[in-house]
Amino acid sequence: MSTSETTESLDFIRTLITEDVRAGKHGGRVATRFPPEPNGYLHIGHAKSICLNFGAATDFRGTCNLRFDDTNPVKEDVEYVESIQDDVHWLGFDWQDRLFYASDYFQKLYDYAVLLIQAGKAYVDSLTAEEIREYRGTLTEPGRDSPYRNRSIGENLDLFRRMKAGEFPDGSRVLRARIDMASPNINMRDPTLYRIRHASHHRTGDAWCIYPMYDYAHPIEDAIEGVTHSLCTLEYEAHRPLYDWVLEIVETPAPPQQIEFARLNLSYTVMSKRKLLQLVQEKHVAGWDDPRMPTISGFRRRGYTPESIRDFCERIGVAKKENLIDVALLEYCVREDLNRRAPRAMAVLDPLRVVIENYPEGQVEDMDVVNNPEDPSAGTRQVPFSRVVYIEQDDFREDPPKKFFRLAPGREVRLRNAYLITCREVVKDASGQIVELRCTYDPATRGGDAPDGRKVKATLHWVSAQHAIDGEVRLYDRLFSVENPSEDEAKDWRTFVNPKSLEVKTAKLEPSLASAAPGSRFQFERIGYFAVDPDTTAGNPVFNRTVTLKDSWAKIEARG
Ligand code: ATP
Ligand code: MG
Repeated sequence: MSTSETTESLDFIRTLITEDVRAGKHGGRVATRFPPEPNGYLHIGHAKSICLNFGAATDFRGTCNLRFDDTNPVKEDVEYVESIQDDVHWLGFDWQDRLFYASDYFQKLYDYAVLLIQAGKAYVDSLTAEEIREYRGTLTEPGRDSPYRNRSIGENLDLFRRMKAGEFPDGSRVLRARIDMASPNINMRDPTLYRIRHASHHRTGDAWCIYPMYDYAHPIEDAIEGVTHSLCTLEYEAHRPLYDWVLEIVETPAPPQQIEFARLNLSYTVMSKRKLLQLVQEKHVAGWDDPRMPTISGFRRRGYTPESIRDFCERIGVAKKENLIDVALLEYCVREDLNRRAPRAMAVLDPLRVVIENYPEGQVEDMDVVNNPEDPSAGTRQVPFSRVVYIEQDDFREDPPKKFFRLAPGREVRLRNAYLITCREVVKDASGQIVELRCTYDPATRGGDAPDGRKVKATLHWVSAQHAIDGEVRLYDRLFSVENPSEDEAKDWRTFVNPKSLEVKTAKLEPSLASAAPGSRFQFERIGYFAVDPDTTAGNPVFNRTVTLKDSWAKIEARG
């Protein structure tokens, strides 16, 4: 993006960056960062932040760092560090050689804290956490000074050094900023900068037993890395004065600027990492990458493409106002993308046997089938046809309602890429269940068209019974049964978990699917998009339903 381009179509952040670049702030340089805490897997909300940070950097020919905010060893883990890197790469972004950790700066952060103490801007408090909360005041009442607030600089330096040396137990001392206990902004009432945690850190081991707080560490990390625009979500708006206050101790010609945007909220799911962790730990789902999770790894396993997620992030845009985005928009983006790229295949999820009485016993014809009508370069494949095929149970009605155009007694329909067939007889078992249809085919209709020009109103997918392979299909529905499970805080959001969010079936698949590699995606004709799950083994394919196709009949029926 050149700076002469108009700013009309830009979101407010890019508009602001454009102005900064024009004004020569930071020498026209643009540097952003994506700063996840490695305490969980990334979710679709993080994708919004990733697309914004890496996207803006690309637009302005700047850089974007990946920085792990690993300041809380109790909750963090290398498993998360690795999954986060995988997910950012998978989404299509690259931090090149700019991978950083907050823990890289522990010494520098400590040194700045010493400078703050020396400047009389920080002190060691010996109140308990409980007391500190009490002294903080409320939104309507000012706080009160801690009795330890006026310790001498010498005493503070000594105590802070001893905190670092491990002389005190967890919770017995904190380092606090010395700002203003009467500030209308609670974040400015002498916020905690350091706390004691005798815990091993996944990178620094036992070298440290005091750890910096996010609000203290973040602005300094940004300044050290030369970040120009520090983009974060709206809940940090009230922390911005603290961000700027901390930066005063760091001598930098052009300090980074914090800019807040609205976080993404998506319907029928939860996005807080704490809740996602609970879903995993309490086994509501099979893991962080369960295809029902709103995590990047869950979506990947489900068959979503990085392109569709990036497209979604572009469509939702970046604004200052929070709202709830309909998950249907995300599903739309996935369908759009997969329609273009996913090869078609035939699979029957609820098989009904069809015997074509006038088709020669033992004969097999290989039907030439187009792999993707949207993409001629995807070529064709051979699909075997024989005397007995499976169709979907749903595609037959003994007593068809109005507007039901699929197979029914005496009716002719098309088997896709094969022949026109007519239903002659319905076979039932002792309980009255339909177990088989007896049909005839018209040998002159190979390929699906009648030479006499007669039309049929439905085209069904099918699989040759003798060639079909069995495959496990996992059909996912929304993980929650309500739009916003977290809306009512008085109710436990877990009570809204949809008990029917996973249905497993054994489907009949066309034989070409036997060799489908994990991760590959298909459109099962007339059913939906499916992706091969990593649980797949030789002879035991497992497919995840990525997203359904729009089903016009289901819509008519739902309307009543
Ligand atoms: P939680 O508070 O649920 O643990 P977090 O938002 O603090 O999660 P981080 O790992 O700190 O998680 O987030 C990294 C970056 O992603 C932050 O800059 C944060 O603002 C951004 N982010 C997190 N959730 C969302 C969201 N729903 N929409 C947009 N950006 C988000
Ligand atoms: Mg955070």
